[in-house]
Amino acid sequence: MSDVTKVTIARGDGIGPEIMDATLEILEAAGAALEYEEIQIGESVYRRGILNGMEPAAWDSLRRTRVFLKAPITTPQGGGYKSLNVTIRGALGLYANIRPCVSYHPFVNTKHPQMDVVIVRENEEDLYAGIEYRQTQDVTQAVKLISRPGSEKIIRYAFEYARANHRRKVTAFVKDNIMKISDGLFHRVFDEIAAEYPEIEHETMIIDIGAARLADTPEQFDVIVTLNLYGDIISDIAAQITGSVGLAGSSNIGDQCAMFEAIHGSAPNIAGKGIANPSGLILASVMMLVHVGQAEAAERIHNAWLRMIEDGIHTVDIFKRGISKARVGTRDFAANLIDRLGERPVTLTPASYEVGAKATFAGIQLKTRNDAKKRLVGCDIFIDHTGGDGGAMAARVLPLVQDGLKLSVISNRGQKVWPDGAPETFCIDHWRLRVMGEGNAEVSQNAIAALIVRMADAGFDIVQTARLYTFDGAPGFSLAQGQ
Ligand code: NAD
Repeated sequence: MSDVTKVTIARGDGIGPEIMDATLEILEAAGAALEYEEIQIGESVYRRGILNGMEPAAWDSLRRTRVFLKAPITTPQGGGYKSLNVTIRGALGLYANIRPCVSYHPFVNTKHPQMDVVIVRENEEDLYAGIEYRQTQDVTQAVKLISRPGSEKIIRYAFEYARANHRRKVTAFVKDNIMKISDGLFHRVFDEIAAEYPEIEHETMIIDIGAARLADTPEQFDVIVTLNLYGDIISDIAAQITGSVGLAGSSNIGDQCAMFEAIHGSAPNIAGKGIANPSGLILASVMMLVHVGQAEAAERIHNAWLRMIEDGIHTVDIFKRGISKARVGTRDFAANLIDRLGERPVTLTPASYEVGAKATFAGIQLKTRNDAKKRLVGCDIFIDHTGGDGGAMAARVLPLVQDGLKLSVISNRGQKVWPDGAPETFCIDHWRLRVMGEGNAEVSQNAIAALIVRMADAGFDIVQTARLYTFDGAPGFSLAQGQ
């Protein structure tokens, strides 16, 4: 018997309590050595005015146990409520979201019988950093943050996962044909790290064609690693095309803590009816057992679950006449699974977890940073202004550009409008003035600051500035379209 591991659990909202009860019964029957601390999260907590859906005492439990089995919650719309998941991931540093998406053909109806894909999604950065602005009457902005350490951690996690789970290939999904600097960094780090895992095949795909292929021929993929937003979207697609979103579990892994949950939501439309499929949370609990080093119990539950699916004991969401044998509710699903503990699937591939296998790779070592020579070479100054064109804007600002600076380009929504703008370009109330050093010389912060003061004095409504740097001579900024 393994040492007892303390785990924090939350029953959540909607179908949460039903599927959590079923999962806990199964864990108990399988001999999992777990002790639980229960916390309240979700709707009832939000209603008490706690905007992130979790009470301070709940955080203490999570910091104590460092392992969280979480049922889905209902996120109230609007009203300043924050997503509990985004809060937990950020606060506990859960940088990796792992979603295995597997078909159970011919026992669960799917168009993709051979599918067995694991999505490894970056969980902390990208547009989910939640840095957004309204800058003018007409313009809003969301900041997409991609860092080298953030990229390195998730990519290395994907390769370590592939190695530990005997996977043959890791595919990165990016959009670096457009976002050359941010997605380009992720791509470069992917290539660097892939070189350290020569036994694992690697490839990179542009997210649009990658997502199309994933929906069409998922069997060509094995492990996919990608940025937060792309991962959010493609992991739901991947789970859905296996046959049901009700089937998949997921883990959120950090250096210190880990959270395990079903990928589906609280399904309020079927809550209290006793018909919810508990499989997502059951399979999440299997991932949790592997994480805490209880591989034997994980294997027993997973194999009994596979046997249930083969035996056609199905909940309503996957029930199909001609394939399924019995339609059961949540409680009977658990009872039938418990009856099968110790059995293995006959047709489907049995689950096998190596005892002592590391599922978390805690404390991924970052590579030593090679500091590049950073030089300040200019500044983009964003102006709120309605009407006119690039020429008129240039005429106003040119007399103010002094101290070795020159106005290099004006753009509107990224499209060059001066010099030589096209009269057809549609302009909105958000202009970017790019100022560089004469002859591309290095410039000083003071020269830029003085220009900003002169522009403010002249009545320009400056909504944002961004310094332009080169790193070892390479520009750390994109060119305007048409520049
Ligand atoms: P949902 O996943 O709850 O439901 C989508 C559809 O799938 C519904 O028809 C539902 O009945 C069905 N379904 C989902 N899980 C099922 C299961 N286990 N068995 C059988 N059928 C199942 O998505 P939604 O309706 O968009 O969201 C409902 C609520 O859940 C929202 O408040 C949302 O914010 C929240 N949500 C929470 C989480 C989470 O806590 N991790 C994740 C997603 C959505």
